[in-house]
Amino acid sequence: MKFIIENFGCQMNDHDMDKMGSVLIDHGHVAGKDVDEADAVIVNTCCIREKAEQKFYSLMGRLQHLRRKKGTILGVTGCIAEQEKENIFERLPFIDFALGPSNIHRVAEALENAAGGGRTSAFGDNTCSPSLLIRPHNTRRGIKGYVTIMKGCNNFCSYCVVPYVRGREESRRSEDVLAEVREMAGRGIVEVTLLGQNVNSYNNGNEDLSFPELLSGIDAIPGISRLRFVTSHPKDISPELIACFGTLGTLCESIHLPFQSGSDRILSLMNRGYTSSGYLHKVEALKEQCPGIAFTADCIVGFPGEQDSDFEATMRLMETVRFDGVFSFIYSARRFTTAANLPGRVPPAIAHERLSRFQKRQRAITLDSNRAMEGSRVEVLVEGQSKNSPDELSGRTRSGKIVNFRGNPGLVYKLVEVDIIKGYANSLRGELRDTPGR
Ligand code: SF4
Repeated sequence: MKFIIENFGCQMNDHDMDKMGSVLIDHGHVAGKDVDEADAVIVNTCCIREKAEQKFYSLMGRLQHLRRKKGTILGVTGCIAEQEKENIFERLPFIDFALGPSNIHRVAEALENAAGGGRTSAFGDNTCSPSLLIRPHNTRRGIKGYVTIMKGCNNFCSYCVVPYVRGREESRRSEDVLAEVREMAGRGIVEVTLLGQNVNSYNNGNEDLSFPELLSGIDAIPGISRLRFVTSHPKDISPELIACFGTLGTLCESIHLPFQSGSDRILSLMNRGYTSSGYLHKVEALKEQCPGIAFTADCIVGFPGEQDSDFEATMRLMETVRFDGVFSFIYSARRFTTAANLPGRVPPAIAHERLSRFQKRQRAITLDSNRAMEGSRVEVLVEGQSKNSPDELSGRTRSGKIVNFRGNPGLVYKLVEVDIIKGYANSLRGELRDTPGR
């Protein structure tokens, strides 16, 4: 069967989409390009923000027409499936299967069951979480590889639905992770990103390698030039992890460190487990260990009870860190979460005004940071030809910034040195210096 997977959400969801694609291909199905021509459409969902959920239901409305017209098989996987469980069939009676994030390994079985007229649903945790163990084919990203090292979360931030839909923390055995990275290196992967809801608490309480020890193990694998991880919880960044940024040559000079708010009162209501000064202390320690490290983050504005003074604290924290980029959102109440019952809803007009002020200032900081790179020489991993011009190549610096420059397509997937000549709002322009050294 020809299938399409539509995806919403984070890098974890991207990776789950790759895993499902691999399972389906292993069962003889073929990835299609066009929803209208597909025999089956699988929608991999995210319910972290209300907007993503609204987009999902609007997509399902459109897919319902396809179902009526052509009998296209429709499946829903991921967080919304888990959140709704069997109720999803009442809300979307035309779908054939629903699988929670821990059950995506059953996607081929569900598809084949649907072809025979059957309906499949699977939710909840599996004791051995086979979905954690699926290794996706290296079909989409050439020399970049993604490895899930853990799933779930024990933190229960008051606004977040993840612990309810992705379950409690569960880490993969380090020897399996290391074997997977070794195998990737053997296939020519040079950049590895470790994925988990809170990678800093990898193997917390287990008699196995800690997260910094796992990073050291991967750093020693020949062929891996770049190592990244996402996502980190500020409270769990240990001195050992900070030290890794000064000692491990493959660990890239960038970190995604969600701060969510600069107000201690709001951080406490969010149940984040740190204060703004604690956060800044860790940022300083990281800068000391790794001068020039790029920080990105997530931030929520308009959390229940947020006053002007709280928002000003958020603006101050942003100014102090000078992030390279921030994913910022207006708070939206999610089912099951304790924040959904908090008093003090911020009126939408005020929340929008705060978000727009925040984003305007952050855009200016990002531009300053990109301009500050003019005149520097950086290592770029060439990811492909530019979408805008066949003579142009596009890649990323170790700090995660996009660089466009003129170059031969033969350099795609190589590490090259580039002089930065111009910094823009979202990217850098460079000039190629030499041919790949590694
Ligand atoms: S750390 Fe908090 S925000 Fe992140 S996944 Fe866990 S509960 Fe959600």
